[in-house]
Amino acid sequence: MFFILCRMLAVRAVSHHYANTQVLTAPDFELARDEHCALIGASGAGKTTLLHILAGILRPTSGNVMLDGEALYPADGRDDRWRASRVGVIPQKLHLLPSLSALDNVRLAQYFIGNTEGDSARVLLGNLGLQARLHARPEKLSVGEQQRVAIARAIVNQPRLLLADEPTSGLDDSNSERSVELLFEAARMTGALLVVATHDARIRGRFSRQVHLNKAPA
Ligand code: ADP
Repeated sequence: MFFILCRMLAVRAVSHHYANTQVLTAPDFELARDEHCALIGASGAGKTTLLHILAGILRPTSGNVMLDGEALYPADGRDDRWRASRVGVIPQKLHLLPSLSALDNVRLAQYFIGNTEGDSARVLLGNLGLQARLHARPEKLSVGEQQRVAIARAIVNQPRLLLADEPTSGLDDSNSERSVELLFEAARMTGALLVVATHDARIRGRFSRQVHLNKAPA
């Protein structure tokens, strides 16, 4: 029983088609809390597709995903707020809203699920080293600062699962290392399981679990 309760994410027989083309056949895997997982595969192997499935925003053609014992895709669906209160996503393109400050970008994620907890966005940004940048708009922030805002936005609702898509693409070695450390720290801060899609050989070894995806045959 203890074993079952510890299990947090389970991926079973998941595959996905776009039109008639099979783009993903994921291996079955289970991850427990505190396990950090890299989804590895060449470009086009289906990493982003699987990440979207794990995020609850793309119902797989077949198979199922369980998060803390709850199905992400029950027959009658889940609403966006259910998903947003359980899964935090850091997309490859960060999609910060340009007209909002760093603080309001994070608060928006809170408001979306009706989380009115006073100061948590401000405290979180402070913990991520952005105390002096709370009111800056994204265009005034460095790439690293923008990524930290996106991390804060992803964890402000205390998700059970934190997902990041190619977080180190385009970063030099030291920034890439810093970015991975920050994701580990964010997962620690919230107690979330971390899954990162990456084809970056520099960071693979940092993850306790690696799930390999192979490109579907044409
Ligand atoms: P990766 O992240 O590993 O590069 P993706 O999950 O982005 O791989 O894509 C896997 C395959 O699915 C690719 O062949 C891609 O062209 C295809 N694909 C992705 N999104 C769509 C879509 N919306 N419609 C059709 N094909 C898609």
